[in-house]
Amino acid sequence: MAGVNSPSAPVVARAPGRVNLIGEHTDYNGGLCLPFAIGLATIAAVRPRGDDQLRVTSREAVPGDPHWQEYVVGVLAELRRIGWEVPGLDIDLVSTLPLGGGLASSAALECAVATAIAGLLGVPLDGAGRRLLAEACRRAETEHVGAPTGGMDQLAAMLGSDGHALLIDFADPDSPVTAPVSFPVAEDGLVLLVTDTRVRHVLADGDGGYAQRRREYARGHPRRRRHVVTENARVRDAVDAIGARAWARLGALMTASHASLRDDYEVSVPQLDQVVDTGLEAGALGARMTGGGFGGCALTLVAADRAGVVREAVDAAYAERGWAPPRHHLVEPGPGAEVLRGIG
Ligand code: ADP
Ligand code: MG
Repeated sequence: MAGVNSPSAPVVARAPGRVNLIGEHTDYNGGLCLPFAIGLATIAAVRPRGDDQLRVTSREAVPGDPHWQEYVVGVLAELRRIGWEVPGLDIDLVSTLPLGGGLASSAALECAVATAIAGLLGVPLDGAGRRLLAEACRRAETEHVGAPTGGMDQLAAMLGSDGHALLIDFADPDSPVTAPVSFPVAEDGLVLLVTDTRVRHVLADGDGGYAQRRREYARGHPRRRRHVVTENARVRDAVDAIGARAWARLGALMTASHASLRDDYEVSVPQLDQVVDTGLEAGALGARMTGGGFGGCALTLVAADRAGVVREAVDAAYAERGWAPPRHHLVEPGPGAEVLRGIG
């Protein structure tokens, strides 16, 4: 606890957002997913206070969002529940992630705060420590905010590593098994393009679609079940394709995943379908929605020298329909959460 009473510099930590390469709506259904951490991230600066109060600011907080501070309150509560002596804190947040855009800004926020607190308390961030934090952050979101989430996002933020995707098996949801998967896509002249449709899921589904899909799956809805069964097979095939550097095969699996999410799980929206269809017509190897759906982002695998053509085609298709322009980000697999500046 050395340094906790020093009023000086804050402890600063960064936690990344994630893109899920394949394996959607499987984390809470005992299945497989394959996310990777990205460069877009949230940074938390944390300073102990002299009292037991919590004060938190966010440069990106949306006026009128009543819930955002609950994510932070939840993380503190969960860390105290596992026995950490978390003092009163001043916390300041900045983020380059879209909020509610399907790139897991909520997990990045939670994990940035938790990682900074670990740095403040001198808790080492080894593999076990990272898993513990991922679980505390997942619980913060499900138990305190009340958002039913499966745990993929927090594991990706805490266990992501440079140049790797993270295979997660939720067969035992209380103890998911993870393995890094080398993902050298850039070495073979390909890029991963994330396109933010600008449709926000909270608006698109009234925040109820995700919970409804969970219930439908639990009740044995045949098409929802078929999606999860076929999606798990696609994740296994994707790991094999990556190992063989069979990028066209990986692209085809991504596109098949999108069709299943659109037709069987029914979580796509016209903007996501448009980005996928246009990208494929413009020569992408594969494309799919990524994240929970009802808006958010699409992921396109494309040769580096075709990426500009894909972007322009998507922008043109959007303009034709009178939709607000999408935002594009090139992403690559990057490191998980880290303390940027420690105590003293
Ligand atoms: P996603 O995690 O895909 O971005 P969620 O709906 O799970 O979408 O989380 C988005 C919510 O998380 C926001 O509406 C906001 O309440 C909260 N949030 C995430 N990041 C921040 C941030 N940097 N500042 C304030 N609130 C944030
Ligand atoms: Mg989230």
